[in-house]
Amino acid sequence: MTPPAPNSAARPRVLTGDTPTGRLHLGHYVGSIERRLEMQESYDCFFLIANMHAFTTRADKSADIRSDTLEIVKDWLACGIDPARSTVTLQTEVPAIAELSWFFAMLIPFNRVMRNPTLKTEIDSKGLGDTYPFGFPMYAVGQCADILAFRPVYVPVGEDQVAHIEMCREVARRFNVQYCGVDPKTEDADFEKAGGVFPIPQALVGRVARLPGIDGKQKMSKSLGNAIFLSDTPKEVQKKLNKIFTGRQSPTEPGDPNNALMQFVDAFIPAPRAAELKDQYARGDNIGDGHVKQELGEHINKLLEPIRARRAEYEKPGGDDVVIDIIKQGTQRANAEAERALWM
Ligand code: ATP
Ligand code: MG
Repeated sequence: MTPPAPNSAARPRVLTGDTPTGRLHLGHYVGSIERRLEMQESYDCFFLIANMHAFTTRADKSADIRSDTLEIVKDWLACGIDPARSTVTLQTEVPAIAELSWFFAMLIPFNRVMRNPTLKTEIDSKGLGDTYPFGFPMYAVGQCADILAFRPVYVPVGEDQVAHIEMCREVARRFNVQYCGVDPKTEDADFEKAGGVFPIPQALVGRVARLPGIDGKQKMSKSLGNAIFLSDTPKEVQKKLNKIFTGRQSPTEPGDPNNALMQFVDAFIPAPRAAELKDQYARGDNIGDGHVKQELGEHINKLLEPIRARRAEYEKPGGDDVVIDIIKQGTQRANAEAERALWM
């Protein structure tokens, strides 16, 4: 879905973010970062590092959460997120988020949270079993606060987050009805006009809704050991691509045009070459997986080259201080905005 053109009078607000559980990968790029880069041109963008959420699965690794926070902001800057135009902020340093989380937790039935399909998938795929902390499902409620504290109209995310955004929309409606006297039959687009504090934000799923990992099964994820990172070297990228398993035996065996390898082709090789490759692959017209992986590697490395070069600037001595300063400045602005919501 193409984002609607922004209203020229005021820049509509956008909020999204990432959890500091590792560096950013290709799934982030095509699922959300591309859209952020496009939107920061004409929208008022807030990008949040959800470090509290990282504690839900890694409370014993606070030093990693700190270093991953810096790594992700470096990835953002390397991709072209511009702190002069967009606000970069850190969840723990915005107290309004914790405050709103508490009240929002009263607006969602417990079972509604536990039925959230994304939570269920995460419990399975991350092997959390039944010993995850009480705080783990809280992150889904907290995410409503991350978003609504900034009163955005759009939230660019990958497909896995759509269920969370739906919950956030429910919370926003309920709050507006219960505490601001808005008529429950109000159209989503009119809640603010009708006196509500919160807009009903819309998820904007990126060009690729769900990029698979190199395991070819689960979505590419920082926590699952199946990711190609934006900061990987060209050699690492190729080595990881070579691991994508398709089960295909020979270049003349008709391949599945929807398998993980072909999803990578769609994501990273521009048309019309992608369509040509997929057609040849589906017919088993003398095209080996090895060849496709090589061609993919060239395209992906071309995409990553300028990102690596910009990242190298922040990896020099003093780079961390520059990044911390960007976070501090952004967080000042973020607090001013989030407090505005509290005092409305
Ligand atoms: P974790 O394994 O810790 O959950 P993650 O890789 O899923 O990490 P998140 O920080 O949870 O990354 O997600 C950040 C954003 O990137 C979200 O909007 C999410 O939907 C999107 N995203 C993550 N992985 C993918 C993917 N494989 N394809 C498309 N979008 C993705
Ligand atoms: Mg995730």
